[in-house]
Amino acid sequence: MLFYSTNHQAPEATLEKAVVKGLAEDRGLYMPARIKPLPQSFFDHIEQLSFQQIAFEVANCFFGEDIPADDLRRIVDDTLQFDCPVVRVEENLYSLELFHGPTLAFKDVGARFMARLLQYFIRKGGAAQQTVNVLVATSGDTGSAVANGFLGVDGIHVYVLYPKGKVSPIQECQFTTLGRNITAVEVDGVFDDCQRLVKSAFMDAELNEHMRLTSANSINVARFLPQAFYYFHAYAQMKRLGKADGLVVCVPSGNFGNICSALFGKRMGLPISRFIAANNANDIFFHYLQTGRYEPRASVQTIANAMDVGDPSNFARIVELYGHDHDAICADISGAAYSDEQIAQTIREVYAADGYMCDPHGACACRALREGLREGETGLFLETAHPAKFRDTVETIIGSSVSLPAALAAFMQGEKQSVPMSAAFADFKAYLLAQ
Ligand SMILES: *Cc1c(COP(=O)(O)O)cnc(C)c1O
Repeated sequence: MLFYSTNHQAPEATLEKAVVKGLAEDRGLYMPARIKPLPQSFFDHIEQLSFQQIAFEVANCFFGEDIPADDLRRIVDDTLQFDCPVVRVEENLYSLELFHGPTLAFKDVGARFMARLLQYFIRKGGAAQQTVNVLVATSGDTGSAVANGFLGVDGIHVYVLYPKGKVSPIQECQFTTLGRNITAVEVDGVFDDCQRLVKSAFMDAELNEHMRLTSANSINVARFLPQAFYYFHAYAQMKRLGKADGLVVCVPSGNFGNICSALFGKRMGLPISRFIAANNANDIFFHYLQTGRYEPRASVQTIANAMDVGDPSNFARIVELYGHDHDAICADISGAAYSDEQIAQTIREVYAADGYMCDPHGACACRALREGLREGETGLFLETAHPAKFRDTVETIIGSSVSLPAALAAFMQGEKQSVPMSAAFADFKAYLLAQ
């Protein structure tokens, strides 16, 4: 299958090129040339299939022309070594828990799939190929998902650049204690400095001659499309519960990659009646739905910080998917936006009423369903991270302690190792050239 750019000014790319390059030459995002619908028979029996079986059928629609079935099945099975269960929260309200992977957030699914797909292409290229170096800048969560997704994958080395003193201790230990093919680079600066160092590296001719560089950010098709897997799996679980009719799915959204993969799923025939995109105070998309105008602006800091995005990168994919038709977008998606105070109130209320602990991101989505569900509908919100990842915030809100899952506690035990780096590109370049 070929992939075209949302800016329509770059040549179509093969899957391999789209994965290795990430972004098209015209700075657009890659879109699959076709979205193949799954047959009705698949949905008739979906509740009898395992997560891996469902995910393989979905993956096959996008990657099946380029990757032999046995290899694709292995990549899917290897990626999904944990479940994404649906849990009842209250009458007609369910949570899709996406935090059972190694770093306890949904980004594990895409990061693990991308690592294995990249490894597949490296192996296919033959043993003579050089190591591929993945550079990723992180403000916290992306670095841990990418580092753990690529951990121990032959032929790939990952450099995680993070701002010194600006990520939480829980986040930091998830990429500084791994060792092996993961190097944490502690930059004396802010997140924007990390991002600038990475971008400069990609554009530096001498560096690219010396080593193979690639990025693993969320706009990569190999990170974005596999997120559709768990929407199909969630539907199968809701069908088993007899709750699949009138299903409304609510997604806490920042860069809109997660909800965008769900919209691809709907286009493939997944029977979800409508979507809600839940925002924090960064309500650019909410505003777009109301007015038809897309007005990006600087992000503001909130307690749901993974959604602090002022110019969502996947917006271009959504408008492309709907042929730039605002009415068509509004027919499938509605929006909601909440202040930190409202998020906190929801965490408190749901914990008191149902004994269910939301993280600040999931709480936005939970609230939107509690406010917006109509007669005859069933709501499913995405719990995109484990509440313990935001332990201090959640503990302050509910007034009791949040226990650390064993996986997180294990990271905290590890020995922290990182390479100190100034924010000057010349220093970072010299360091990479010496590797
Ligand atoms: C990244 C992230 C989000 C936002 O997802 P997008 O795909 O960028 O919309 C929401 N919640 C958590 C916990 C995240 O880490």
